Amino acid sequence: MPNSAYQSSEQQQLLEFDRRHIWHPYSSMTNPMPMQLVESAEGVTLTLANGTQLIDGMASWWSVIQGYNNPDLNLAMLEQSQKMSHVMFGGLTHEPAIKLCQQLVAISPEGLDKVFISDSGSVAVEVAMKMAIQYWQAREQSNKHKFLSLNNGYHGDTFGAMSVCDPVTGMHHLFAQSMMQNLFSESPSCKFHDSFDKSCLNDLESQLKQHHQTLAAFIVEPIVQGAGGMKFYHPDYLTAAKQLCEQYNVLFIADEIATGFGRTGEMFACNHADISPDILCVGKSLTGGYMSLAATLTTDHIATTISNSEAHCFMHGPTFMGNPLACAIASKNLSLLNENDWQTNVKRIEGFLSESLAPLQDLKSVADVRVLGAIGVIEMSEAVTMESITEAFIKQGVWLRPFGKLVYIMPAYTMTNDELSTLTTAMITVISQL
Ligand code: PMP
Repeated sequence: MPNSAYQSSEQQQLLEFDRRHIWHPYSSMTNPMPMQLVESAEGVTLTLANGTQLIDGMASWWSVIQGYNNPDLNLAMLEQSQKMSHVMFGGLTHEPAIKLCQQLVAISPEGLDKVFISDSGSVAVEVAMKMAIQYWQAREQSNKHKFLSLNNGYHGDTFGAMSVCDPVTGMHHLFAQSMMQNLFSESPSCKFHDSFDKSCLNDLESQLKQHHQTLAAFIVEPIVQGAGGMKFYHPDYLTAAKQLCEQYNVLFIADEIATGFGRTGEMFACNHADISPDILCVGKSLTGGYMSLAATLTTDHIATTISNSEAHCFMHGPTFMGNPLACAIASKNLSLLNENDWQTNVKRIEGFLSESLAPLQDLKSVADVRVLGAIGVIEMSEAVTMESITEAFIKQGVWLRPFGKLVYIMPAYTMTNDELSTLTTAMITVISQL
């Protein structure tokens, strides 16, 4: 049924076409979820076509870290579009890509100085996996072609990425016959703020010991397992996991697509553990949420080994690789991180969320409340109904998109305390009524 909150017939018709013809993420064509028609977005506020204004707690899935309609990012986009929006990256190069890569190399963990720019997070993960495979081929160890990842992990929706996502929630059974069969280790049980218990590494160590001869790489979301449960685990796990990978000669891929660029309180979540991965994937907030862009960074050693191999080159080259428009915006976004003092803002948000969400811990319906950097998570005892809880949040003037047992926010770093207060008050009101 068309959403009755939309009065004009033109709006009803748009929604009707959407419902009949357009796939949304993880959606059904026969029983689609209700859609909100968004007209515009400014700062941290979404304005719906029916005039409703919503404070956005999702930053469009981690990406809009500087707020919507940001004048500096708009200007970067406009200026670049007047020079060139796109040129192929084969045989041609340009300042926006070069500047962006200079910035990425400068801020990423030590040793990562070769950059492959791609279109989306999932592709950045595919690229990382292909780099690992080509690296071992170049070293004449092509038996090392499998991947080890963690239960509750999430790395994207393309085939390679899917094959390293949690085997149950990643829906492996649907695609099992067409998918690479990889290996999984228990997810780290030691929480970020608890004292570290070394036994949480036992399974990882035994998997590496048993399978290292066939393993190209271990791939992991550092510190925060996102879509697989919004779990924050201990930095010592990551430090030890990196050491184990070195010991067993398995490459270490850090998927920082969600955590990169300050979200957890460090520029990269790897910084909490003071490690440098062999391969790093970034995306999502790279362009401040303006458009899709991602990158895979690696070391000189890996890049040189691949390049001196029989293949002579790394085998990937998307049409929109290094898109100048996206690179110019991303480059400005990385400059703005410092200009807007991201670290102070993320600390401020962390403090605000910790204090204001804490009372929810006392509710019976709430299993856990946790905050890290600019991420606030309420884990409920029972799964919520997405449709009704989303509607209840809209009535409170906020946009949240809970899933399973998780009601969570990851606001723009520019969100003020007043705006944060609207979000957390709405969370407390709605969750208290469940
Ligand atoms: N890795 C992680 C950790 C992610 O959170 C995501 C996005 N949800 C991806 C990879 C895939 O990125 P994209 O959706 O841009 O393909």
